[in-house]
Amino acid sequence: MKKHNFSAGPAILPATVLEQSANAVRDFDGIGLSILEISHRSAEFKAVLEEVQQATKDLLGLGDDFDVLFLTGGASSQFYMTAMNLLSAEESAGYVDTGAWSKKAIKEAKAFGTINKVATSEETNYNYIPKGYEIPDNLKYLHITSNNTIFGTEFHDLPETNVPIVADMSSDIFSRPIDVSRYNVIYAGAQKNLGPAGTTLVIVRKGITGKVTREIPTMLNYDTHIAKDSAFNTPPVYPIYVCLLTMRWLKANGGLTTMAERNTKKAQLIYDEIDSNPMFKGTAAKEDRSLMNATFVMEDDTHNAAFLEACTAVGISGVKGHRSVGGFRASIYNAMPMESVQLLVDVMRDFSAKNG
Ligand SMILES: *Cc1c(COP(=O)(O)O)cnc(C)c1O
Repeated sequence: MKKHNFSAGPAILPATVLEQSANAVRDFDGIGLSILEISHRSAEFKAVLEEVQQATKDLLGLGDDFDVLFLTGGASSQFYMTAMNLLSAEESAGYVDTGAWSKKAIKEAKAFGTINKVATSEETNYNYIPKGYEIPDNLKYLHITSNNTIFGTEFHDLPETNVPIVADMSSDIFSRPIDVSRYNVIYAGAQKNLGPAGTTLVIVRKGITGKVTREIPTMLNYDTHIAKDSAFNTPPVYPIYVCLLTMRWLKANGGLTTMAERNTKKAQLIYDEIDSNPMFKGTAAKEDRSLMNATFVMEDDTHNAAFLEACTAVGISGVKGHRSVGGFRASIYNAMPMESVQLLVDVMRDFSAKNG
């Protein structure tokens, strides 16, 4: 039985994407070769790269003033590559600390310039998105984690500033339309909302690279990958192809406006249950709740194991919360159908009726 996959990542992909990926492993587009055994310099893969870059631009509404890269090393490598490529030793960058991922980005960036932590919600275990803080104008960029996968918080409005934004969108890329004019760099590990683990989408505004004086190793230099169109060395052919399949699915299903509507409805369904069911409570501040990762706990955590069992019994997988928050986390990315969210809500209701 196919399970209802609420995992935070690697995460659910659209059923048609899994089907098409499996077919491409056997025979890619009827060429008599597997996607796993074709050259990254082949005409077939060149076409994949071109289409995936164009689809990224189409979906986000990016003009030709951006380069679209598919790199390796995960979003975690972008924690240092962003600073290494953009921040000179004598310059400052601002960071909003909304938990784990931001913290790691801050730690890595410190090696390359002055890091100004403009705001943090650490004092309440990152259960909200800071607001109303001072952002100096002289910052090279302001780094945010647009959605904190672990704490279930999401920026619903961008910070008020003229400083260009660098955003880790690993867990909410393509979940809603964005104002691309505000960003200099957007990066996202594929395995949350886009594809399998193995590639990282990196979107870089043209003209911002090549300005720092430090020596940058070839593979870590954005300009290398921009010049060679993400194929300086062998790129992760298969993960990139699966990302393309997801993007085709996104385009065929109405694009990001439709995704945002669907995601809002799904999130509303689960949060309404969390708020109305006396056995559960949400962990994130209501106005900052993530549309992608709903975090919640039980009022009486001695019921945790039994609730998890009730979920497992109906084929719900991956709802155990991250250890730093505890309780439960329902990751309801783009590919998650409404019916699966409804099933989880039904289990919560049923559990409460029997045990509350
Ligand atoms: C998962 C995640 C990461 C880490 O991604 P890797 O690709 O494993 O390095 C970084 N940031 C956010 C917001 C994440 O959800």
